[in-house]
Amino acid sequence: MITDPRILRRDLGAIAESPVSRADLEALEETLEKFTAALRDDPVPEGDPGAATKEYVARLADAGLLRWVVPAAHGGAAEAISSTALCLIRQWLARESGALDTAFVMQGLGSNPVTMAGEPALQAALLPKVARGEVICAFALTEPEAGSDIQGMQTVATPRPGGGVTLRGRKCFISNAGIADSYVVFAREAPTAAEVGAPEGARPRFGAFWVAGDAPGLKVTPTEVIAPHPIGVVDLEDVEVAAEHRVGAPGDGLSIALGNLDVFRVSVGAAALGLADRALSETIAHLNARRQFGKPLAAQQGLQFALADVATDHVAAQLLVYRAAAARDQGRASADQPAMAKLFATESAQRTIDRAVQSFGGRGVTVGEVPERLYREIRALRIYEGTSEIQKLIIGRALLRPAKR
Ligand SMILES: Cc1cc2nc3c(=O)[nH]c(=O)nc-3n(C[C@H](O)[C@H](O)[C@H](O)COP(=O)(O)OP(=O)(O)OC[C@H]3O[C@@H](n4cnc5c(N)ncnc54)[C@H](O)[C@@H]3O)c2cc1C
Repeated sequence: MITDPRILRRDLGAIAESPVSRADLEALEETLEKFTAALRDDPVPEGDPGAATKEYVARLADAGLLRWVVPAAHGGAAEAISSTALCLIRQWLARESGALDTAFVMQGLGSNPVTMAGEPALQAALLPKVARGEVICAFALTEPEAGSDIQGMQTVATPRPGGGVTLRGRKCFISNAGIADSYVVFAREAPTAAEVGAPEGARPRFGAFWVAGDAPGLKVTPTEVIAPHPIGVVDLEDVEVAAEHRVGAPGDGLSIALGNLDVFRVSVGAAALGLADRALSETIAHLNARRQFGKPLAAQQGLQFALADVATDHVAAQLLVYRAAAARDQGRASADQPAMAKLFATESAQRTIDRAVQSFGGRGVTVGEVPERLYREIRALRIYEGTSEIQKLIIGRALLRPAKR
């Protein structure tokens, strides 16, 4: 039954293919059920997005949920980060609050580059703290002139005598900006003297760098978005980075950034599923409760048809998301599966939520009502970690790639 809160009971066959055992995933859902019930009894005020994020991170850590964003070697729950587990967690959390879901995932998105390619000493210093909720993490890729086209990055990493680099540039739309203790920043490597002299100019190379939240020269200007969470512009004014805080080899930055987004992309689809779950349950309850023309709205065939359309989309979206997650967990990741999952799940969740707003009538657009909040919360998911149009480019390229002979 698609309205069963327990996702593992929804007949989504692909989940069975996850290398994390069924028993571990069931235990995870039990934890999530208790965690979300406790949160409903004792909600976190979201008026101050930074304070809410810190409180959410502390509660997620207490429940052991942040252990799913780092590998077991550094205090994590599983040997490697499991996409299926990430998806289950985000689907449950997003039902309660978009800000809660963002607080969870940023701990992974912001620390996974260090898991992928950081120096062992940096991994040992940072990752156990991430699992324990002792640091807040950020991932700084986007720039004013480099959104979908990340190779347009202008932030420059200039080598310093004795190793290390100096970072100069501007990042924007950086989640957790201002409250983060840990940033992974991507930058263009300054061209070498030989490259400067090259006749056609050298192809830009990019690097990844770990920067502490209190590093001198790092300045944050908050940005207000429609569904509040801490986010802002990060100016890097000659921020010094020690050699051992470089993440990966010089020139590896782009593949680290894209590899990190690959790990988390399908989970954006799962967050959309959580928002759609909530929209569906709110819609069903409202259609049964609200009476017009002498009978419940639920008795109107036109509204039943509308509900059937969004419910069918919702099941299709879940199959795509958990198929892509299972494929990644089994080492069969492809570019098109997560792209299809994110594209379809976020676009169909937007339709499901719009339907909830419509079913609620005037209440649907009233500030403080759940459909109004969901309507604001879903919107950014079609934009961040690759817009819907960029997902279509990825799917198109995968289809049109010349066949191997
Ligand atoms: C709430 C939120 C949180 C975010 N958090 C982070 C974060 O923590 N870290 C981080 O680094 N970034 C973050 N981002 C940035 C996000 O990843 C970018 O906004 C996104 O990649 C799009 O870039 P852009 O905003 O510059 O849009 P643009 O790239 O300017 O795109 C504008 C429009 O043009 C379309 N478009 C662009 N190129 C093409 C093309 N080739 N073909 C067809 N259509 C195209 C896009 O799909 C879009 O509709 C966040 C954004 C939001 C909204």
